[in-house]
Amino acid sequence: MDLYLNYKYIKSLVRLETELGKSSCIFCDIVKKRLPFVNVYEDDNFLVLMDKYPISRGHTLIIPKNHYDNLLLMPEREVGRLYSLVPIIARAIVPTVKADGFNVGQNNGKAANQIVPHVHVHIIPRFNDDSPNGRWPMRRVASHEELFKIADGIKRFLNPTLVNKDLI
Ligand SMILES: [Zn+2]
Repeated sequence: MDLYLNYKYIKSLVRLETELGKSSCIFCDIVKKRLPFVNVYEDDNFLVLMDKYPISRGHTLIIPKNHYDNLLLMPEREVGRLYSLVPIIARAIVPTVKADGFNVGQNNGKAANQIVPHVHVHIIPRFNDDSPNGRWPMRRVASHEELFKIADGIKRFLNPTLVNKDLI
């Protein structure tokens, strides 16, 4: 496939926001504050929030404010900035929930279990005894109170100056 065709192929995968319709992306609605969410961190380009259906205590999502269906459609520079947020946020999550470790996950496409077609990175705290059978812990519905409490803890460990400095 030559460069031009490759470009055309990639463009065909991009859905313009006008084509998406006003409420077809849950994360775009969250970015625009049309849906409730529990905020952890926000800057001009990224939003960090608590997962409503956590795999574990402290399960957090990092999403770009711009809509990209998946990682293939996101400019590399933005991917770099997205991933540079991962250790910064994880450093605040781990002591908040006293995790023994954590997973970083990013799914692309239905075959890879991507549920919301808007790029997002999962940070999932793990605990020594959370997986006796070696499988993922079960997702559950968390109460807003629980999520707010954890988010407050994470915010206390986050240094906003450091976050912004690291992303320049
Ligand atoms: Zn979106």
